[in-house]
Amino acid sequence: MTIKRKSISLMAVIVLMACSSEAADKPSEIVSNTAAAAAKAKKAEASKAKTAKAAEKTGYALTRSDLGDGVYMLAGSGGNIGVSVGDDGAFVIDDQFAKFVPTILNEINALSGDAPIRFVLNTHYHGDHTGGNQAMKETGATIVAHDNVRARMGQSFENQLWGRTIEATDPGLWPSVTFSDTMTFHFNGQTIDVIHVPNAHTDGDAIIYFREADILHMGDNFFNGMFPYIDVDGGGSVRGMIKALDTGLMKAGSKTQIIPGHGPMSSKADMQTTRNTLADIASKVESRMKAGDDLQTMIDSNILSDYKELASFINEENMIKVTHRSLSQD
Ligand SMILES: [Zn+2]
Repeated sequence: MTIKRKSISLMAVIVLMACSSEAADKPSEIVSNTAAAAAKAKKAEASKAKTAKAAEKTGYALTRSDLGDGVYMLAGSGGNIGVSVGDDGAFVIDDQFAKFVPTILNEINALSGDAPIRFVLNTHYHGDHTGGNQAMKETGATIVAHDNVRARMGQSFENQLWGRTIEATDPGLWPSVTFSDTMTFHFNGQTIDVIHVPNAHTDGDAIIYFREADILHMGDNFFNGMFPYIDVDGGGSVRGMIKALDTGLMKAGSKTQIIPGHGPMSSKADMQTTRNTLADIASKVESRMKAGDDLQTMIDSNILSDYKELASFINEENMIKVTHRSLSQD
């Protein structure tokens, strides 16, 4: 990837040099434009090399999946990024963390041929999906999200599971365009449906479907291959998350490529398995609640031991806690 890009840039410099040598009898304006372009290319190359070095230091790297029709998934640290590139520029779903944005921008620019990023759509308010917003805005992008994403980013509130306060973020990170139910982008030849799924992973989730490309981004309503995080203090609920997965399953066909919020690329069958697992987890906890068991008893007898291979940053105990709390509030 880096090598390919370098060779393209090198070619550009060679072409520019060739142009310069023929420039003797051309107007001086063209000569100075050519020199300015060469200087700009050199500067861009230096900045890319610097970013690559910084990425090496942090150990951060992006893995790209080419999904066809100019749509890509970029997996790095934080939520999976979706990118559409084409004649209209770049459309980006989620932007991970601010410190990784230079690497993310390099990757997007390489895919788009340095076309402008027009929109960044946040699937929800969490920092591993919105942390790069300010840096994206500085490139000229408009940040779009559900109404509650902007509201959540502007307030501090307690998170019971993690036992800490989630602080309000800097206004520079907030989306400037918000929607309440659905919206549609007509971009790069795609009809892009953005659908709010209420009280699912949070209270401001969106799932995104590229109709022509048949690609679905589920945001964090879909953790592929691991227990999901359900942000109950942020307005999420286990039942809402099951419904969100059902909404996704209704959109998807057998060939739909599905980008989960976390985990590898997936098919409809994978997402159906995740949906069934979550419904089973909810029913296991609910039946114990109905039988009169308290939370500690459920944890002590590890009622989710059947699913221990799904333990990741959410382990069985936290999955029981969150599910119990969510069902207690229904
Ligand atoms: Zn999240």
